[in-house]
Amino acid sequence: MNEDRYSRRSFLRRGLTLAGAASVWGAIRISSAADKPKDLSPTTPDQALSELKAGNQRYVTGKNMHHDFGPERPALALSQHPFAIILGCADSRVAPELAFDQSRGRLFVVRLAGNFADTNGLASIEYGASVLGASLIMVLGHTGCGAIKAAVDVVTKGATLPGHLPELMSYLKEPVEKARSEPGDIVANATRQNVVANVQKLQTSEPILAGLVKEGRLGVVGGIYDLATGKVEILA
Ligand SMILES: [Zn+2]
Repeated sequence: MNEDRYSRRSFLRRGLTLAGAASVWGAIRISSAADKPKDLSPTTPDQALSELKAGNQRYVTGKNMHHDFGPERPALALSQHPFAIILGCADSRVAPELAFDQSRGRLFVVRLAGNFADTNGLASIEYGASVLGASLIMVLGHTGCGAIKAAVDVVTKGATLPGHLPELMSYLKEPVEKARSEPGDIVANATRQNVVANVQKLQTSEPILAGLVKEGRLGVVGGIYDLATGKVEILA
């Protein structure tokens, strides 16, 4: 990676070349490799994962790249070509663009307390993968997740929650149930189970994501963000 990736010229070239390539959700189509930037962004699942790992390493070690937001803005107003999709928690301490040291336009981020894919989240992810052409999805859980802790309390202590929270909890009960039978910390285990379950759900989701995965054009991985260190552990 070099500075040119974020230069005005690079973003303008992307914008001019790719403007309008996939801007209308109504005209759904699967992006081809030719739709993607040729020399600026990862174009394969492996490349995308490598860049996320490298960006997280920069973040952890305090070597974040300088992102000059102003010059990027005109090109990004024309189009977007994110290389990865992050399904993350709404937790204010987990900020994907910062944690992976990426500028705007490079990550398509779906966030919801508990980082799970409901129907609307899935539809958003389908848009990011099939229309915008991102080649990797990372389901990103994190340590100390309040949503997971609440789900553990609901399952193990019969806790009742106000408002619409019970609906959200319904998506997190199964991972907690699986974690109950495991040795060790139930919150940490449920966090992992939840990530794994959502990775599997997205990998096998018909009719869009599963097809891209089978073609080798889309990868789905899990990760756990450590609040204390900023390090993202990639789940095998
Ligand atoms: Zn959380």
